[in-house]
Amino acid sequence: MRNATALRPLATDPLLDALRAIVGPDHAMRGEDAPGALVDILQRHPGRARAVVRPANAEEVAAVVRLLAAERVPIVPQGGHTGLAGGGTPDSSGAAVVLSLARLNRIRDLDRDNDTVTVEAGVILDTVREAALAADRWFPLSLPSGGSCTVGGNLATNAGGTQVVRFGNTRALTLGIEVVTAEGEIWNGLRGLRKDNAGYDLRDLYIGSEGTLGIVTAATIKLFPLPAAHQTAFLKVSGIATVIALLRHARQGFGAALTGFEIVSAATWRLVAANAPEYRLPFAAEADDDHWYVLIETADEDSEAHGRERLETVIGAALEAELADDAVVAESLAQREAFWAVREHGLGEAQKRDGWNAKHDVSLPISRIPDFIAETGAALQTEFPGVRVLVHGHAGDGNLHYHVARPEGVGPEYWETHEHALRALVYRAVTARGGSICAEHGVGQLKVDALPDYKPPLELALMRRIKTALDPHGILNPGKVLAR
Ligand SMILES: Cc1cc2nc3c(=O)[nH]c(=O)nc-3n(C[C@H](O)[C@H](O)[C@H](O)COP(=O)(O)OP(=O)(O)OC[C@H]3O[C@@H](n4cnc5c(N)ncnc54)[C@H](O)[C@@H]3O)c2cc1C
Repeated sequence: MRNATALRPLATDPLLDALRAIVGPDHAMRGEDAPGALVDILQRHPGRARAVVRPANAEEVAAVVRLLAAERVPIVPQGGHTGLAGGGTPDSSGAAVVLSLARLNRIRDLDRDNDTVTVEAGVILDTVREAALAADRWFPLSLPSGGSCTVGGNLATNAGGTQVVRFGNTRALTLGIEVVTAEGEIWNGLRGLRKDNAGYDLRDLYIGSEGTLGIVTAATIKLFPLPAAHQTAFLKVSGIATVIALLRHARQGFGAALTGFEIVSAATWRLVAANAPEYRLPFAAEADDDHWYVLIETADEDSEAHGRERLETVIGAALEAELADDAVVAESLAQREAFWAVREHGLGEAQKRDGWNAKHDVSLPISRIPDFIAETGAALQTEFPGVRVLVHGHAGDGNLHYHVARPEGVGPEYWETHEHALRALVYRAVTARGGSICAEHGVGQLKVDALPDYKPPLELALMRRIKTALDPHGILNPGKVLAR
């Protein structure tokens, strides 16, 4: 027989009951019952939440927002939870409700003539790419996290990825959006229009706002014709200035066919060889090597043979002009995938096994990349002797993932004393060259305190006015992008 204490019902939060009344009993839970939702993928921003709620459609999202707005409960939108800036996790107060968009996972419409697909916010990015492929169309947004991140998260962070050099980032791929406002209204802006100058561009205001202005529930995005073939090559290049000259050569030679221009520094290359040997490098990693490794991809509309011929011509000319010292062209799909596996997974895996490092996702005018690399590397060695600079990135977009690892033989406690000053050095070097301290991952919590030091005060003031206009009670993702 069970005693009376065991039979007594657990005290419940009336807010949780109200949320369950909207989304059903299985889709609202206490924060502590959904621990995965409370910490980011890099485990840098743990938090607590009063509840986690998973509405099924835009109407339920709106009803949840109206309920929470009435009680001034902070809302943290969450998609695939792959964000790298801590934007999708709650703070430590336990006051917020995490609103997951995962169940908004329908593809609503694919319009072949308009070359658009309308998808809900929780649809996984790779699912959109597959749906496009099934309709003989191409959706070019491509991220290493594509198997987990969502379209809503892509829009909220204005994600970039590996095809930006030709197609632009998520903003450039988006024609229309549906948004639930901070008051819980549904704005249907799902217009599949390529021209629409009827007033202010609200779509572009919401894109990249990291859940601080509204909750994206669906989007109409552009599709493209399927290329006849892709060509992929790795090149070995001496020096970052030559990399930039090679980029100019590739743009000229490939024109619109150039879809990817990714770079990896020699130190990063060596780290992959040492720490993640399961990723086979097309060039051996050598000690004291200071080459850069460039992954070039083209997408050719004409034919496989034409694409291949052009690739060989352009790369041949690059070798002749000493813009590259060596080149390996992928001969099969398996080899192409192996090249991309190095870029998309090998670099990250090797660094993970090396231990935590200070990651900077920055962008620069492409012409300033060489002096940024040379001078920042030297300044870091002066101020923080022995640190290891590990660079890779989307050089075709001026976007560097500039990671700094602690000196060999030093423990993780190194960061307790040095992280802040080291980041400031890198950010100052970026800003001095007209760059941005947030290229594609967003501000989130990671850079919210740094932003005011690197953005003009008027720009921040204008952002605050927009925030106040669209979220007057400050309930949408507080503490992200703009400090409270
Ligand atoms: C291995 C790896 C590689 C990556 N590579 C890239 C890369 O190449 N390029 C790149 O840009 N990013 C990259 N990322 C970062 C990440 O995948 C992207 O930022 C992605 O767009 C986030 O989508 P998500 O659905 O996971 O969003 P989440 O992480 O859930 O959320 C990200 C932000 O968006 C907000 N948000 C989420 N959904 C909505 C919504 N529906 N409405 C309003 N706000 C919302 C959240 O509150 C948060 O602020 C990478 C991440 C990993 C782990």
